[in-house]
Amino acid sequence: MSGVRPRWVDFHCHLDLYPDHQRLVWECERAEIATLAVTTTPKAWAGNQAAVKGACHVRVGLGLHPQLIAERAGELRLFETLLPTAKYVGEIGIDAGPRYFRSLEAQEAVFASILQRCAEQGGKVLTVHSVRSAKRVLDHVERSRLPPSVRVVLHWFSGTMAEAKRAADIGCYFSIGPGMLASPNGRKLASSLPLDRILTETDGPFVQVAGRIARPRDVSETVEELALTRSLETDEVRRQILTNLASLVGPIS
Ligand code: MN
Repeated sequence: MSGVRPRWVDFHCHLDLYPDHQRLVWECERAEIATLAVTTTPKAWAGNQAAVKGACHVRVGLGLHPQLIAERAGELRLFETLLPTAKYVGEIGIDAGPRYFRSLEAQEAVFASILQRCAEQGGKVLTVHSVRSAKRVLDHVERSRLPPSVRVVLHWFSGTMAEAKRAADIGCYFSIGPGMLASPNGRKLASSLPLDRILTETDGPFVQVAGRIARPRDVSETVEELALTRSLETDEVRRQILTNLASLVGPIS
């Protein structure tokens, strides 16, 4: 996410969960898509780093997905060992949906611990899951007193308008994708979030576009839709998102 200026942004995609992971990395390179390859377990870090070697538009996030905490809370130690080497962190966060409610306490403990380490280390960009937990997530973010060099991107935000405003007020960014735009609440949020805080994402392969699994190149359609909902030119929104990415990640990445 530095050097050569990208054309597009997919700030949250699980590249390693596609059958053609390596091909997808080069697809992002060719299409000049600044892509954050999020991971769900710290065990995936090394393999993902190897896959992006030589790529200038793809970066890897060190993750520990909240939906896996019930079985993988023990991987927090590996996560913490790797954290000093990671600028991008995610997927992390909290999922208070019915399927994961039982691990909520453990999820909160892990998330709080990760935030605390990030606050201590500084210089990180986090991509955060907040399903049915926007308030909890924002409470944790506020409590952790992150320095300005640690940025939070709320991925596929599904909270209320008031929660979105609170998030924006404390400096959060929002990554918007086809999944979010498929729901009326998501569309409403997407059209009202501050223009200088939005990024695009796909969250593939968990999201479908036109009956097939989304790929990073599908962000162009999200940019188009965002432009439509705001009555702006598509290219204006595309360039705004690149500006937002640059101010989010800084000159050195
Ligand atoms: Mn995800």
